[in-house]
Amino acid sequence: MYSTYVVRDNRIDNMVKNVGRIHGNPPKGPTLMDNPLGKYFSLPLPDDKLIATYVWIDGTGENLRSKNRTLNFLPKVPEDRFTTIMNARDEKLREEAYKELKYSEQHKYLPPYFSPRNLENIFKVQCRLRATRNIGVFDENLKDLPVMSFNGSATRQAKRTNADMYLFPRAIYRDPIHRGRSILVMCDTYDTQLQPTATNNRVRCAEAYLKCEEDEPWFGIEQELFLMSADDMRPLGWPYKGFPERSSRYYCGVGADRTFGRDLMEAHYKCCLYAGIPIVGLNVEMGPSQWEYQIGPSVGVSAGDDLWMARYILQILAEQYGIEVSMKPKPLPDWMGSGAHVNFSTKLMRDVNGIVEIEKAIEKLGYAHQAHLKLFDPHGGRENAKRLVGSHQVAHGDELTAGVGERLNSIRIHRNIAFEKKGYFEDRRPGANCDPYVVVDALLRTCVLNE
Ligand code: ADP
Ligand code: MN
Ligand code: MN
Ligand code: MN
Repeated sequence: MYSTYVVRDNRIDNMVKNVGRIHGNPPKGPTLMDNPLGKYFSLPLPDDKLIATYVWIDGTGENLRSKNRTLNFLPKVPEDRFTTIMNARDEKLREEAYKELKYSEQHKYLPPYFSPRNLENIFKVQCRLRATRNIGVFDENLKDLPVMSFNGSATRQAKRTNADMYLFPRAIYRDPIHRGRSILVMCDTYDTQLQPTATNNRVRCAEAYLKCEEDEPWFGIEQELFLMSADDMRPLGWPYKGFPERSSRYYCGVGADRTFGRDLMEAHYKCCLYAGIPIVGLNVEMGPSQWEYQIGPSVGVSAGDDLWMARYILQILAEQYGIEVSMKPKPLPDWMGSGAHVNFSTKLMRDVNGIVEIEKAIEKLGYAHQAHLKLFDPHGGRENAKRLVGSHQVAHGDELTAGVGERLNSIRIHRNIAFEKKGYFEDRRPGANCDPYVVVDALLRTCVLNE
């Protein structure tokens, strides 16, 4: 599933540069439906068992790993959890959370605390625990979930062989893969000395969020990606030889000659909703077989949890389908790159005349621009630099530009928001393979904490 992209990408570079006929039936691996073992997948679990899948970011900072554990209990939470959350939010969100709670309660398998909306105050407690170095102890909400260990030398997370590293549960989602009461658990990683590993960017992000919780920072991330056939790593539906026609028909396109992999992306959309990930939209992007889904708004550090878990679910579905998801910022030279636009607002920005706050934030981003560029992919910004070239609807990386509506800017303010003079702004710079914990952290520290 996580192969070396470099070798495979060369094949694309070497492709004959002529326009070929798009084929509508890309080669597919066996799906669970075709798979004779598929029927066992839906076997009900014993009443007293659930499967917890622990998911973590490995040493590359962009690939995920996971392992399963059978639990014989449901993680418990204190009764008053929802009231805490609901008091901390504005009227409308409180109402929504309440609706969600009722729905959850009605749901046969879903205890109300499985909603990620509920998990915010976990971070607070986790951070406090981490500050006291007593990180083996958990907040009430997650304390029942075991800390798991894994072999860090096999995940590029440890130099020593057979180094036992630790997975700390941070956020729980319903599991659309195993269903029933099973859960997906987003974790962060610690070394043998219980120190955060090099790619554990969640710690810093959670600390930044903790410092400005009262500002109610929200993040909505647009994840762009290409679907590749795992057989030959060519984009799905592309001609067997050469390139598809350059055309404006692909964006939000409908029809077998211009849209590829819709079944996979729609399945992913539903799985995210089922999981409790706040996915808000899906559209075909401008490149053939390029897609975008949007997450959010999520509060603070949970934006990272939500997006990483959405990425995980898509990888699992695609794996079962013989498709590889490429989140490289520029997978195909001279074609549309993939970004991860990060939409950001604070309470003040969403309030009357919040545009003033938005402008202040953008000014600060201008000073931090060069430093930020290095953070927008897990390769010191080098991969994303190939995307930030001032064409294909992305800004040039040299300087930060901002404007209303215009997509060629680094920062875009939606027309509606300019009209209403409040809302959020869109940072179009991060690459599709960025670590959202890093980007959220950078925006919080620059725009809110003035660091
Ligand atoms: P675009 O016009 O750039 O394509 P999209 O509709 O694809 O925008 O995505 C909009 C994103 O903005 C979504 O991820 C959504 O969650 C996010 N968003 C909406 N309102 C806010 C807000 N107040 N603060 C932060 N993000 C927001
Ligand atoms: Mn979008
Ligand atoms: Mn887009
Ligand atoms: Mn956008």
